[in-house]
Amino acid sequence: NKPTTAVKLVLLGEAAVGKSSLVLRFVSNDFQENKEPTIGAAFLTQRCTIGDKTIKFEIWDTAGQERFASLAPMYYRNAQAALVVYDITKPASFIKARHWVKELHEQASKDIIIALCGNKYDLISKNNEEGEEIESNRKVSIEEGQNLAEEENLLFFETSAKTAYNVNEVFMAIGNKIPSG
Ligand code: GDP
Ligand code: MG
Repeated sequence: NKPTTAVKLVLLGEAAVGKSSLVLRFVSNDFQENKEPTIGAAFLTQRCTIGDKTIKFEIWDTAGQERFASLAPMYYRNAQAALVVYDITKPASFIKARHWVKELHEQASKDIIIALCGNKYDLISKNNEEGEEIESNRKVSIEEGQNLAEEENLLFFETSAKTAYNVNEVFMAIGNKIPSG
């Protein structure tokens, strides 16, 4: 019987980038094409085992922070981890993500683990046989995401809640950085 570490995790990012969808994929391995927007805050938990640790993610998926930025500090206070999500087809959502990262570094707990997620990877459409993108709706390059992550010391993944690409990986990477005990 391994001890369980509870980890409070919050989601931040512009409306419609896929925050709730990433949580739904992680918690229920499901996806909804026309997801109803979150009303208020949803609270979900998911346990996972990483090496010799058991982690219970306590996930606060919020709506309203998108429009009422003043509510956000209430959500991220005491959070040990945050997913800052943007949509790789929406440059404005990447600018917004930068702002959230800055705000977290100024206001949140100083050892918060932040994962930057460039979501909707499935929308880049076509890759050639070598796996290189040949046709794309991409508007935010992978380098822009990587650079921000390097500058701000973030985990970074491009994800798709639709195909499940890299979704578990994000949470595993966060779990790996949580000190046990
Ligand atoms: P939120 O407002 O950030 O919580 O975004 P939602 O999770 O409600 O998603 C907004 C819309 O984007 C919904 O219609 C989702 O089905 C869609 N969506 C979310 N994630 C993805 C994804 O990875 N790929 C695609 N193609 N659509 C997605
Ligand atoms: Mg939502």
